[in-house]
Amino acid sequence: MATPADTSPLGLTTLAPPAPEQPPAAAAAQRQVRPDIEPDQTGLTGQILVGVFVGLPMLALLAAAPLAWGWGLGWHDIVIAVVFYAISGLGISMGYHRYFTHGSFKANRPFKIALAVAGTLALEGPVLTWVADHRRHHKYSDKEGDPHSPWRFGNDWKALTKGLAYAHMGWMFDPNRTSQEKFCPDWLADSDIRRMDRWFPWLVAASFLAPALIGGLWAWSWQGAVTAFFWASLVRISFLHHVTWSINSICHTFGKEEFSVRDKSRNVNWLAILSFGESWHNLHHADPTCARHGALKGQIDIAARLIWVAEKLGWASDVRWPDEARLTGKRTGSRKLGSMTRRVERAPGPVAGR
Ligand SMILES: [Zn+2]
Ligand SMILES: [Zn+2]
Repeated sequence: MATPADTSPLGLTTLAPPAPEQPPAAAAAQRQVRPDIEPDQTGLTGQILVGVFVGLPMLALLAAAPLAWGWGLGWHDIVIAVVFYAISGLGISMGYHRYFTHGSFKANRPFKIALAVAGTLALEGPVLTWVADHRRHHKYSDKEGDPHSPWRFGNDWKALTKGLAYAHMGWMFDPNRTSQEKFCPDWLADSDIRRMDRWFPWLVAASFLAPALIGGLWAWSWQGAVTAFFWASLVRISFLHHVTWSINSICHTFGKEEFSVRDKSRNVNWLAILSFGESWHNLHHADPTCARHGALKGQIDIAARLIWVAEKLGWASDVRWPDEARLTGKRTGSRKLGSMTRRVERAPGPVAGR
């Protein structure tokens, strides 16, 4: 029976189990040794809230398939769900991840605020929390200190099954909080982003209620409001949750290593469209600030294409497009880099591809 502290069959020392909740004195001592994390002041209440906001939409997702045949899935619901899925999913991909966490481009103020609002609608936490956790993930990436590595319990199939579940969902219930002072002082100093943190409960309410309101007005009936709430709020939120969490679980376990990396990040093609390009996760770990994750020819990356549009509109600038000189040596195969790449043979200057 594998335990969290096991050594893997390959002889690799595995990661320590998640720290249990500690009394304040012990927590303070731990902060001095490991200042990356700090105890969550909200404690049990916070964990219960995560449980409710994860569990409620997930129950709807589980009920969705049987209900779809017999009850209330109209084309209004599909349109509203797809639109809200795209807004909140792109808010995570373009906003929370590529802009706020990695600074893949600069955004003007209205675009920055729009990206923060859109990302908040995904119900994956306030921008500061998300950015701090994700920067810690990159700092430790599949080593001790990574908040959600599927390899934390070991390499045998039992440990990996447990690790996949932990990387997918379990890590969110860890009572330790990533230090925002340490990992995102840049955004803590930004008054717009601090305001987003305060608005978080209202934006969460809007993400639940706006689809119902639109559905009700569109159909001019209570039933239209109820079915839109079910499909475009609950099911949409849970579905996007699972797609995002799959980047942490599946894309650190299965898939192709098309660029050499020191962690287990992999490119997973079947998740590319649903995740707006986030599942090209192997390139992302090979070159984290790169704005296009699907950097190889033919790899569809919707978020990168929309950053390209934002750049043309003047909302985004200084976009860090794939750099042939930097990426060529990291490729493990012979597949060529795609469009938007800064080519070596061109004269130096702000050439950003097609
Ligand atoms: Zn990763
Ligand atoms: Zn990242």
